[in-house]
Amino acid sequence: MEMSPAQSFETGAVIGEIILFLLLIVLIALIAYLVVVLIKRNKEKNNPRIKYQIENPQGRWTCPRCNSENPNTTFLCNRCGYRVV
Ligand SMILES: [Zn+2]
Repeated sequence: MEMSPAQSFETGAVIGEIILFLLLIVLIALIAYLVVVLIKRNKEKNNPRIKYQIENPQGRWTCPRCNSENPNTTFLCNRCGYRVV
């Protein structure tokens, strides 16, 4: 049985559709991967360990217990050992 030009064209169209479908799947997989990476990064941003970074290392805080001044680089009062966090 010989293929008519019309049938040949249809076969080509089906192959094109399959390729398009595969490309769509690859694209969806790529977008899903990017979303996962972005969510992971966002979670790392909200990590409390990173959140407690020193905002102003040159600044000073006053101890509520003994009123002595302490540098922002420490959570403990240098005089009485009061813990701020
Ligand atoms: Zn103190």
